[in-house]
Amino acid sequence: MSSYVPAALRRLVIARAAGRCEYCQFPQQAAFLSFEIEHIISEKHDGPTVAENLALACPYCNDHKGTDLGSLDPETDILTPFFHPRRQEWPAHFRIEGALIIPLTPEGRVTVKILRFNDPDRLVEREVLIQAGMYG
Ligand SMILES: [Zn+2]
Repeated sequence: MSSYVPAALRRLVIARAAGRCEYCQFPQQAAFLSFEIEHIISEKHDGPTVAENLALACPYCNDHKGTDLGSLDPETDILTPFFHPRRQEWPAHFRIEGALIIPLTPEGRVTVKILRFNDPDRLVEREVLIQAGMYG
């Protein structure tokens, strides 16, 4: 179970993320489900409940990430951590091509794979947002 995140810390995380999932960049205002305050290093692996270890995530990314820390890079089979929204810059690890999120690095590849950024349903949603000028 997740630790209680104090209201002030929740507000900080939400404001810092500028209303977007810090993994797939989906805008919260376009989502039906509430976004979640997520432990980047999960509590299972002793990740603390502090600003530097918290991120705003959409329910899709958060559910697929679970308590995992990373995966095997599909290109090299090397165990690789996920993209870290506090220590890494999104544009250095991903780019948007049409509605697809294309990984640029090993961290990007394991994050796109395990968090399932390019599942068909998510591509459809992203395409609608792109048409509306709300994504990318
Ligand atoms: Zn997301």
